[in-house]
Amino acid sequence: MQYTSFNPPARTLMGPGPSDISPRVLQALSRPTIGHLDPLFVAMMDEVKSLLQYAFQTSNPITMAVSAPGSAGMETCFVNLVEPGDKVIVCRNGVFGSRMLENVERIGGTAIVVDSPWGRAVDVNKVEDALKAHPDARFLAFVHAETSTGARSDAQSLCQLAQQYDCLSIVDAVTSLGGIALNVDEWGIDAIYSGSQKCLSCTPGLSPISFSEKAVQKMKARSHKVQSWFLDQTLVMDYWSSSESNKGKRSYHHTAPVNALYALHESLILLHQEGLAASWQRHAEMHTILRSGLEKLGIEFIVPEQDRLPQLNAVHIPEGIDDAKVRNIMLNEYNIEIGAGLGGFAGKAWRIGLMGYGARKENIALCLAALKDALKR
Ligand SMILES: *Cc1c(COP(=O)(O)O)cnc(C)c1O
Repeated sequence: MQYTSFNPPARTLMGPGPSDISPRVLQALSRPTIGHLDPLFVAMMDEVKSLLQYAFQTSNPITMAVSAPGSAGMETCFVNLVEPGDKVIVCRNGVFGSRMLENVERIGGTAIVVDSPWGRAVDVNKVEDALKAHPDARFLAFVHAETSTGARSDAQSLCQLAQQYDCLSIVDAVTSLGGIALNVDEWGIDAIYSGSQKCLSCTPGLSPISFSEKAVQKMKARSHKVQSWFLDQTLVMDYWSSSESNKGKRSYHHTAPVNALYALHESLILLHQEGLAASWQRHAEMHTILRSGLEKLGIEFIVPEQDRLPQLNAVHIPEGIDDAKVRNIMLNEYNIEIGAGLGGFAGKAWRIGLMGYGARKENIALCLAALKDALKR
């Protein structure tokens, strides 16, 4: 067997993630690897932290990137905060809400599930009913941007309810960060996680997270050890922070993914240079352009207009159209990836992503042209 180097084609990524990556981020990734305790690397990590605070709009000192994908960020929030026996209200309106439920159950927490239809926002009134019915609930967990359905939930109102009913909020912002308005401090979010490969347009494999002071207090008051050694924040914090706790010294916890963090640093600089509000605005504008093109092709959106995510456009596959054939033509002849339906939407929906660097006019034009051709055939 003769092995040769892997040379992937240059695809246009317009699915649910990973998204298109800027050449600047790919260049950053290939710079020389240095030691993860090298003072220059430590200084760069401090910048990653302050850039993440900007992206999340928070001054939380515990803001960092977990060295693993978004799912590990999710797990980090749940295993550090929820203890066996804790009651958690879990909102479920798609695949990722079900994953939150799975986390709560594995920890031995008691989950109270509030279901909302797929393709719709989480029903705020139903959540309030659940909070009233369960005054002993400690947490409210929900997905801000449901990537499986393209629905956006009202994170601000949900976090306000959490505060009103004395719960800590746990928010999935994997697809929302950088793509739609998100204000961690203003909205009073207690625990939040994201992913590097959606609207931040970085390589997959890192999960930005942030914890409020209240969340940190809850962690400190734990009566059980966190069941995961790797994700235990009390241990990782000493590695990421040059704060009082470790007297400015970084101690070894695990080897940071050095080059991946160069890439995240660069992608966050791109976001900072554009400006957060400008990035949110660009996603909204690109969505409008894509929408009118799709409507001209007779393609209909699944999510009602008021609940739609600009960065994840879930549409009905037109009657009589072969799902896989269309996606294959787009991939093999146009080098464009769009997403298939997930879970209950498999075979029924396409998910067209406009995330981060991918949310550009030329991508939309190419996608619409390829889709038009594929549909005709
Ligand atoms: C992609 C995604 C995740 C999981 O992130 P991975 O990086 O794939 O582990 C979790 N939640 C939402 C809403 C997502 O879109």
